[in-house]
Amino acid sequence: MKQFDYVRPATVTEAVAAAAQPGAVFLAAGTNLLDLMKGGVSRPDRLVDVTHLDGLDGIETLADGSLRIGALVRNADLAHDAEFARSYPAVAEALLSGASAQLRNAATVGGNLLQRTRCAYFYDTASRCNKRAPGSGCDARDGENRSHAVLGWSESCIATHPSDFCVPLVALDAIVEIEGRGGRREIALVELHRLPGDAPDRESVLEPGDLIVAVRLPPAARGFAAHARYLKVRERTSYAFAVVSAAAALRIENGRIAEARLALGGVAAKPWRARAAEDVLKGVAPIADAFQKAARRALEGAKPSGDNAFKIELARRIVVRALTLAAAGTPARIPALPASPFASTSGALHV
Ligand SMILES: Cc1cc2nc3c(=O)[nH]c(=O)nc-3n(C[C@H](O)[C@H](O)[C@H](O)COP(=O)(O)OP(=O)(O)OC[C@H]3O[C@@H](n4cnc5c(N)ncnc54)[C@H](O)[C@@H]3O)c2cc1C
Ligand code: SF4
Repeated sequence: MKQFDYVRPATVTEAVAAAAQPGAVFLAAGTNLLDLMKGGVSRPDRLVDVTHLDGLDGIETLADGSLRIGALVRNADLAHDAEFARSYPAVAEALLSGASAQLRNAATVGGNLLQRTRCAYFYDTASRCNKRAPGSGCDARDGENRSHAVLGWSESCIATHPSDFCVPLVALDAIVEIEGRGGRREIALVELHRLPGDAPDRESVLEPGDLIVAVRLPPAARGFAAHARYLKVRERTSYAFAVVSAAAALRIENGRIAEARLALGGVAAKPWRARAAEDVLKGVAPIADAFQKAARRALEGAKPSGDNAFKIELARRIVVRALTLAAAGTPARIPALPASPFASTSGALHV
């Protein structure tokens, strides 16, 4: 195994400085990073353990009504926070649809955002992969690629981003707070992840040393609580990544959609905000025709990157279904199989 330094900084400033050198990476719960290191996929020179930093594990409502979630809040703690689940039900549903209970107990908010792709060739060091070894090629292009991207991909890389959590967050205009060498800054989450272009190894806009310290949901995000769902199609009904997923959130006033939010997962190298589809829904009645039109618009420009043309039609249908469920109203109880299109609503208590 490759030798590496392990440092445990006491402050955010120290963490940023410690991670600014080439080859350094942050370690949160390690549920993704340590697997990658054990497989020789990720070979850092230095691990900067951020799990002991103070002040990054809180969930607080700010004076303007925003919700600020510290980067070290565990996925399970966030999903099971009663006030959070009531106000942002699609986000809670997405969190609970991810991984397993044990993993969710450990995994952090920051780590979930920056988890790496699940492309099998990326994990297999005997394969050619431009993301792992820039310039080596992409074995997924002519390989097993039925779960790969249908939007925003390039000849260099056709991988998808695997996070469920990010999908409703992007739909709700989440903001990421970053501490870097130049101080504190913030960006929209939708700007955090990069499309592959000709540099798929650069997955986000973060610079060396940049630490995600929090994710913020703006006040308007609460306005969708009554009509919000996350829907995920996966090859097993639990403990599997999304083949395709959709987060749908509606504000319905006087029988019409005053505002719609829609994002897709499993289709691109980043959580995919479908703004053009949202525009289709504004001001219309929440009926099947409108949802089908929105779904067609959401997948405009989609093209297969291999043996995955089925994902385009599947994504359209999941969009229609997610919008239909959202329009029917957020259930008081989360389904027994969160985010599954096959679930009934009789399940564990939501809060
Ligand atoms: C078997 C299995 C199944 C899974 N299924 C799903 C699923 O269905 N859906 C889903 O969404 N996820 C799934 N996951 C992924 C899981 O959610 C992630 O592994 C987890 O969220 C990563 O969080 P972590 O704290 O362990 O991050 P780490 O593994 O510690 O870090 C991940 C990456 O983020 C970086 N990082 C961590 N924190 C910060 C920070 N604050 N600032 C900057 N960089 C940071 C690290 O350097 C690293 O590159 C699954 C994982 C496993 C192992
Ligand atoms: S799709 Fe991307 S991650 Fe997968 S092998 Fe190709 S370059 Fe690597």
